[in-house]
Amino acid sequence: MSDLTQLTLESALGGMAAGDFTSEEITIAHIDACMEAADLNAFITNTFELAIDQAKASDARRAKGAVGKLEGAPLGVKDLFCTEGVKTTAASQILGDFKPPYESSVTTNMKADGMVMLGKLNLDEFAMGSSNETSSYGNVVNPWKKNEELVPGGSSGGSAAAVAADICLGATATDTGGSIRQPASFTGTVGIKPTYGRCSRFGIVAFASSLDQAGPIAKTVKDSAILLDSMAGYDPKDSTSLNVDNGDWIASCEKSIKGMRIGIPKEYTVDGMPAEIQSLWDQGVEWMKDAGAEIVPVSLPHTKYALPAYYIVAPAEASSNLARYDGMRYGARVDGENLNDTYERTRAAGFGPEVQRRIMIGTYVLSAGYYDAYYLRAQKVRTRIAEDFKNAWESCDALLTPTCPSAPFAIGRKVNDPITMYLNDIFTVTANLAGLPGISVPAALDKNGLPLGLQIIGKALDEDTVFAAAGALEKAANFTAKPEKWWT
Ligand code: GLN
Repeated sequence: MSDLTQLTLESALGGMAAGDFTSEEITIAHIDACMEAADLNAFITNTFELAIDQAKASDARRAKGAVGKLEGAPLGVKDLFCTEGVKTTAASQILGDFKPPYESSVTTNMKADGMVMLGKLNLDEFAMGSSNETSSYGNVVNPWKKNEELVPGGSSGGSAAAVAADICLGATATDTGGSIRQPASFTGTVGIKPTYGRCSRFGIVAFASSLDQAGPIAKTVKDSAILLDSMAGYDPKDSTSLNVDNGDWIASCEKSIKGMRIGIPKEYTVDGMPAEIQSLWDQGVEWMKDAGAEIVPVSLPHTKYALPAYYIVAPAEASSNLARYDGMRYGARVDGENLNDTYERTRAAGFGPEVQRRIMIGTYVLSAGYYDAYYLRAQKVRTRIAEDFKNAWESCDALLTPTCPSAPFAIGRKVNDPITMYLNDIFTVTANLAGLPGISVPAALDKNGLPLGLQIIGKALDEDTVFAAAGALEKAANFTAKPEKWWT
């Protein structure tokens, strides 16, 4: 049998449907690949035995004619999704050996659709980071390598690395300011953050609740549509969940974009961006034109305030969400002299430096004297950014931008310089602030042979257009490069 780990999710589902191989066979092939790839440190917890049981159960269901959207597919789950009875860490020590008594709604949907779960994937601690170096379980190594080891991006670095290394057919991820799209760009994979409210946040460890959205990282645009179609859906357990139907996303990936108006925001040309990324963006414009789209210059004038606003709103919400980790109800505890002392010791020992930095920024901007100057002002900026997009939609249907201002960088290069690290998110945070869908599609290799992505941002709830544009981009870019399997 040929190497089943080289398949896309779409072809794996097709192969199982045709009886070419079983879920158990493709699951075992992926477990072997996961074990070979231990040096990438993509997993925090593996669930290989559980996966074999799930695969056998899937094969038995299929024999009876019951076939779900993800039937029998071995996938990975970012360790920010609560999984019933399976250790869930958010890559933090403060959760200790927490085994949730319940399952996130997204993974509940995927299980109901036949997912086989290979394990829980590494991430930046509480999804705070752009390089996976803030994980308390060690950094993830990008499968793409050039002389030195590179970061896979973050926070969903484990998800992106696992998909790029062909050790999972696809993976769940979350995106608060770019954590699906940036690691996808860094690893030559596809990642979509849907409209805020498409995927339930119930059972996902909260970072910044008004920005957090789940989505998939996948090998192809179509695979990302297949995964999102399982993950998304109304959930009464999340008050911000949208009661709307999924689109016809899988079909949309192949839809013509003739006549589609693609906006090019002039403010996304930023100082210091490598010329290669600018020229890839220009190439993207040509690809869209060749596919029949009309190119429209647009302006998003408040873009320059997006990053500062994000780094106020996100830490503010994080400081409030993270107040629950007090060592009393679950997770790790360091006993002190009295209650306050126990809180302090627990939180000092349990949270890593980046999380502590965010909590301090967040409590500062929410404090009585500074609330108006920082938090309230950031919220006003947020409204302006959403208005910028609304105005842009008068003249275009979707936007084309680079995903990130750089290619993947060396491990350790930016970790001590938070401002430089935060600049990674410059093209992605706007979609979170405005609640819009955004997808990163691998588009080319840079001069060092490292992957670069292009991003499509769409209107709220218009994932159909996003998938159509992404499908056209993928076809034109014809990105077939794979990292050398140096880890085997
Ligand atoms: N890199 C951003 C941050 O550190 C975004 C993280 C995310 O989307 N979870 O906050």
